[in-house]
Amino acid sequence: MLILGGTGEARALAAALDAQPGVEVISSLAGRVTDPALPVGQVRIGGFGGVAGLSYYLSDEKIEAVVDATHPFAATITAHAAVAAPDAGCPLLILRRPGWRESGGDRWTRVPDIVAAAALVAAGPPGTIFLTTGRRDLAVFAGDWSHDYVVRTVDPPTGAQPPRMTLLLDRGPYSVEGETALLRQHNVSVLVTKDSGGAMTMAKLAAARGLAVPVVMVDRPPLPVEVGVVETVDAAVQWLVSPGSAEG
Ligand code: NAP
Repeated sequence: MLILGGTGEARALAAALDAQPGVEVISSLAGRVTDPALPVGQVRIGGFGGVAGLSYYLSDEKIEAVVDATHPFAATITAHAAVAAPDAGCPLLILRRPGWRESGGDRWTRVPDIVAAAALVAAGPPGTIFLTTGRRDLAVFAGDWSHDYVVRTVDPPTGAQPPRMTLLLDRGPYSVEGETALLRQHNVSVLVTKDSGGAMTMAKLAAARGLAVPVVMVDRPPLPVEVGVVETVDAAVQWLVSPGSAEG
């Protein structure tokens, strides 16, 4: 079977399946980050070449099931898999961790996409914006001369960036204490994040709550409606044992 990876859940699924007799697993990574965390077992790295390339790969490698365990914002590969897997006659499941939920004391504004986040921030009062939306989403903030930006990415960004920017290179996981200290140190007035979900990058939300820092939360892109979705590694393993058991 093929796991479309690049997440902690994908690595956990590869590890769970590695222990199952008679299951051969290939994990696929896009190759975006240098020195990626690798799953156990067989790994391939790099794009497939669009829907046609993925469809060909599935047939050529005689893949019998695909789990799309990519990041909730990796919408292109998810859309490609939703077409390529049925094309190749392969059952497909999406493993997607739940999104974050606002709780008491949070000051979140949800926006549909990164462009809306940039427009909201640019129209707001001067201050320091903490951007944790990834290095490829910086261009939409490049025209904003009225705010300071603290940008945290795994690898250094390329391309257009906010003109008044401090770059922090880090990949987590993060602690609430560390995130609180960071928000204080940079006098952050607004945090901008994608609704990635999961525990690894959640500490910033607790820190923002504690310091009453407003959060601009970018909503997830929609999932293909015709594909079953589970939220846990156990449920994905269960699906592989009895395909078709996931809710669509
Ligand atoms: P994307 O926009 O959905 O995909 C762009 C292209 O990258 C795809 O068309 C595909 O190329 C290739 N690709 C993506 N994921 C792949 C995979 N697992 N294996 C092989 N090729 C893959 O993806 P993205 O947002 O750039 O994310 C790339 C990877 O980073 C994903 O594996 C994702 O899980 C991980 N990631 C993404 C984010 C995020 O915020 N987007 C955060 C953390 C981790 P072809 O068309 O040539 O097949």
